Amino acid sequence: MTPEQFRQYGHQLVDWIADQRTQIYQGQPPVMAPVKPGSLKSALPRQAPEQPESMAAILADLDHLITPACSHFLHPRFFGYFPSNGELSTVLADLVSTGLGQLGLNWQSSPALTELEEVTTDWLRQALGLSDSWQGVIHDTASVSTLVALLSARERGNDYAMMHTGRRADDKPLIVYTSAHAHSSVDKAALLAGFGREHIRHIETDEQFALRPDKLRAQIAADRAAGLHPCAIVATVGTTGTTAIDPVQAIGNIAGEEKLWLHVDAALAGSAMILPECRTLWRGIEQADSLVMNPHKWLGVAFDCSVYFVRDAEHLVRVMSTNPSYLQTAADGQAKNYRDWGLQLGRRFRALKLWFLFREQGIEGLQTRLRRDLENTRWLAEQVRAEHAWKILNPVHLQTICLRHEPEGVNGEALDQHTLRWVNAINQSGFAYLTPSQLQGRWMVRVSLGALPTEREHVEQLWRAMQAAVAESAQ
Ligand code: PLP
Repeated sequence: MTPEQFRQYGHQLVDWIADQRTQIYQGQPPVMAPVKPGSLKSALPRQAPEQPESMAAILADLDHLITPACSHFLHPRFFGYFPSNGELSTVLADLVSTGLGQLGLNWQSSPALTELEEVTTDWLRQALGLSDSWQGVIHDTASVSTLVALLSARERGNDYAMMHTGRRADDKPLIVYTSAHAHSSVDKAALLAGFGREHIRHIETDEQFALRPDKLRAQIAADRAAGLHPCAIVATVGTTGTTAIDPVQAIGNIAGEEKLWLHVDAALAGSAMILPECRTLWRGIEQADSLVMNPHKWLGVAFDCSVYFVRDAEHLVRVMSTNPSYLQTAADGQAKNYRDWGLQLGRRFRALKLWFLFREQGIEGLQTRLRRDLENTRWLAEQVRAEHAWKILNPVHLQTICLRHEPEGVNGEALDQHTLRWVNAINQSGFAYLTPSQLQGRWMVRVSLGALPTEREHVEQLWRAMQAAVAESAQ
């Protein structure tokens, strides 16, 4: 494709994306794609075309085949999982990133990519109220950031022995501690980093689903007594199930006393820290060694963009660096080479998305939107609390409410069936989307607010739909 053809089709596609967004923001398509598994595959040829096809044909298939099989996190009545907000300015930044074809192998291969990443992650650090002892790097996802954290912990707790010899420094297995409510990516990272399934401790939580420091301390002591080697703690600020807040300060004290690595997973809740009034939720964060937050969730950067903040960057580079002759340049030692800050060599120019977001929205614009979402969440929680048969099951710290409709005399299996009946009825209608999930062995429903276009009217619509669905289910 020539630049002139790109101009022509690019304009057409930008119009197309703008039209799509308008329809999605107006709530026109079903929230979740109403298609069956395999439906798109069966409509596509099994092999790539031998001959070139026209752009017109490709664009027509976008409409006929692709968009009907898309689900919409940006729908105003998307209340599932966690928000995944892609502000349109960051969509443009993504286009610029790909269009410029930058590949950050080292500083020299894209000085702009490297230095903008340094600057924008530092803007983010300041916006979150973190001290200047932190440095940031952009990864694709929190899963990868947590893997990097546990690899770093493994080497610090092990005198770099695994890296150099593939064996532990002593014969004692290294232990990782996390909450029973931690995201599955923590277990995955621990397994991939070689800790071994039997060396991951899921510490009991309290009635607010937060990790209990007393249980953590006791488990560490028991492990030491058994000749094991406690290595790392992963605390979560804003768990996926209930947005529970592990007490970072108390956990940080234990990590400090026991000389363990403390990684904080604030994948969702990190965005809330642009609001000074939310920062008590991660009080003690300065005691952590590393933390991850995902601007691609609530903050508004189009997927993907996960920022890993680390305190001891020298240690990170020691664990991650490679230095083959073909990547060496005269700038080494004078500038960052982000390949030494994570797993991948080549990196996308994701910093452009953060840069566009901060500049186009301003910190105030972002704060206003997040405060709107918190206010809408409080409103919905009040409605739910005021109705006799409805129960809120979590402390509502942020934008997620875990709830259940519990008609009198209905419990156990019958209650589960009622819950799944009404939530599935809403989800299958395409009108709104909520995530059914299990809490303490029983089904409940997570209502997670914060999609870009979600205003109070959409939350009111959801509440009416929920009331109608439970009435229908009870019949
Ligand atoms: N940690 C928490 C608390 C999450 O809620 C999630 C995803 O929702 C993750 C980690 C994984 O995020 P990612 O998809 O960026 O790997």
